[in-house]
Amino acid sequence: MVVLAVHGGAGGDGPWRGMTDADPQRVACMEALLNDLGERLQAGTLDALEAVTLAVEAMENEPLFNAGLGSVLDENGHVGMDASIMRGEDQAAGSVIGLTTTRHPVRAAQQLLKQGWPVMLAGRPGDEFAKKHEVEQMDSSWFETDLRRAQWQKWKSQRLRPGATDEEDALLDHDGEEDGWGTVGAVALDVHGRVAAATSTGGMTGKPVGRVGDTPVIGAGTWADPNIAVSCTGVGEAFIRTVAAHSVAVHHRNVGLEEAARMVLEEVEPLGGRGGLIAVNVDGEVVMPFQTMLMYRGLYADGVCKVGIGPDFVQS
Ligand code: ASP
Repeated sequence: MVVLAVHGGAGGDGPWRGMTDADPQRVACMEALLNDLGERLQAGTLDALEAVTLAVEAMENEPLFNAGLGSVLDENGHVGMDASIMRGEDQAAGSVIGLTTTRHPVRAAQQLLKQGWPVMLAGRPGDEFAKKHEVEQMDSSWFETDLRRAQWQKWKSQRLRPGATDEEDALLDHDGEEDGWGTVGAVALDVHGRVAAATSTGGMTGKPVGRVGDTPVIGAGTWADPNIAVSCTGVGEAFIRTVAAHSVAVHHRNVGLEEAARMVLEEVEPLGGRGGLIAVNVDGEVVMPFQTMLMYRGLYADGVCKVGIGPDFVQS
């Protein structure tokens, strides 16, 4: 059995309000990559590590997700992209922080994983490492879309409102904006029974320069070991403080996958970190829980592709 699951970020309060005009484009992106990569996983021509890398790359290419092209803008109106990846069988990991010119941060993270040391690279040296390993480089302005610029302008004007707190600023992207979500992630199980996980993000609109969220922190936003692979999305600070992705793996040993994922999201929430996660174990069990109004998500398993945004999956 093979599995490929992806998420495209979680956010929003209250009941599901239905698709926005931009959602069909996000759904089409997820369906296309799931069908393509799912079939290749099934055929055994793709392993779990490359499957999650290609899945995240496809979502980094989609400007309506908050990763790669179309990443959200920091307090100075620039992109700073984070990504990480982990291979289950040997817990090899790679992570990049605050990249500004690398088209596919997840590919740079995968190159670090393959090199073996160091695990994490931050800032310009991360972009330089990527360039040296032939990961495509772009001008940093190439990543900035009109939509993200408009969201940033809105953030900036609200931030200047007297009395706005840092916390409100940080939450804007998740709770105030219809189109501000979109961190992306993938988990996979291949025909050899091996799992991998990857996550990539532009972070949060208006984030302080130098802020590091959970996405590139191994064990917080991303985790894979011989039994399980996990990718998280939500307000990153709370996922760091609960070591959320790794916690799913620890609880999973005792209480099973569904209960483990539920317990971890419950630990994260009181710290201000409502969000969601996707996880797969070596038995092919998959969970995709979220506590927000929505989580963009999709699943390929047993030749069947399903995508969802609100509470229900739609089979395609
Ligand atoms: N976790 C990401 C961060 O805090 C954001 C998100 O998942 O939406 O950078």
